[in-house]
Amino acid sequence: MAVVRQFQGPIDLHAHSSVSDGTETPAELVRAAAGAGLGTVALTDHDSTAGWAAASTAARAVRITLIPGMEFSTRVQYASVHLLAYLFDPADSALLAEVTRVRAARLSRAEQMVARIGMDYDLSWDDVLAQTTPGATVGRPHIADALVARGHALNRSAAFADILHWKAGYFQPHYAPDPLHAIELVRAAGGVPVIAHPATRGIADVVSESRLKTMVGAGLFGLELEHRENNPEPTARLYELATKFGLYVTGSSDYHGTGKPNRFGENTTAPEVLDRIIAEGHGSEPVYG
Ligand code: AMP
Ligand code: FE
Ligand code: FE
Ligand code: ZN
Repeated sequence: MAVVRQFQGPIDLHAHSSVSDGTETPAELVRAAAGAGLGTVALTDHDSTAGWAAASTAARAVRITLIPGMEFSTRVQYASVHLLAYLFDPADSALLAEVTRVRAARLSRAEQMVARIGMDYDLSWDDVLAQTTPGATVGRPHIADALVARGHALNRSAAFADILHWKAGYFQPHYAPDPLHAIELVRAAGGVPVIAHPATRGIADVVSESRLKTMVGAGLFGLELEHRENNPEPTARLYELATKFGLYVTGSSDYHGTGKPNRFGENTTAPEVLDRIIAEGHGSEPVYG
């Protein structure tokens, strides 16, 4: 019997609201996704599911499908590896404990970075708070917005290229679990894990064949190989490894509102791949608007 698909395309499975470092509220983001012509969007804020409820209400109102998700911060040595997770149980205690720990580490790390920047520039923690929605996952983008507001940078991208770049000396890493452990936590919570932009500089170096093999063994579902920040050479290498290990390939925009140039639908995911994500995800439900 043929299964009737309940979602429509285009499908974009990576977007950030003001619950993390996007510039639009979850409801505004979902309305923008519909306005851009998407049939399905995933909300994937960094280390938070706080936007799911408002995004679900908005998806029903504008009649698009919402895939609840998150971009989980993980780390291998000094490389920050982002793990997209879909359709997991947001109340799973082990996952929640780890995500809470990461959010706390992000907060103290941002305070320490701002203290150091504040020795050389007119910038205070209050300036950062003024750019941050209460309860949001704090990141360098909020520090960037504060630097822009104080006139120390022209825009977010300029702040990242200058004061927030690790070469400037203010950068500090924060605690995050190993990607292998994060994959296990996401699967145990009924979710579907996909490595975000795995072919960017920094991440590509740590996604070796042997490490990828171990992650596949732990339940990795796929690789986000269609993403504007992926570099061509590692992307080609990872396409081959995806075939070898039976990994699915996704494509998405990584929309951040006006916080980044990424536009909805600039990369998309095949409906057959979303069919599999929905079949394997059993910690939460898509919202078919
Ligand atoms: P953090 O996790 O706090 O170190 O900050 C990393 C976040 O900053 C990423 O999730 C990106 O969304 C954002 N980001 C990185 N580079 C840039 C850039 N050049 N312009 C705007 N946002 C950026
Ligand atoms: Fe981000
Ligand atoms: Fe990311
Ligand atoms: Zn992202």
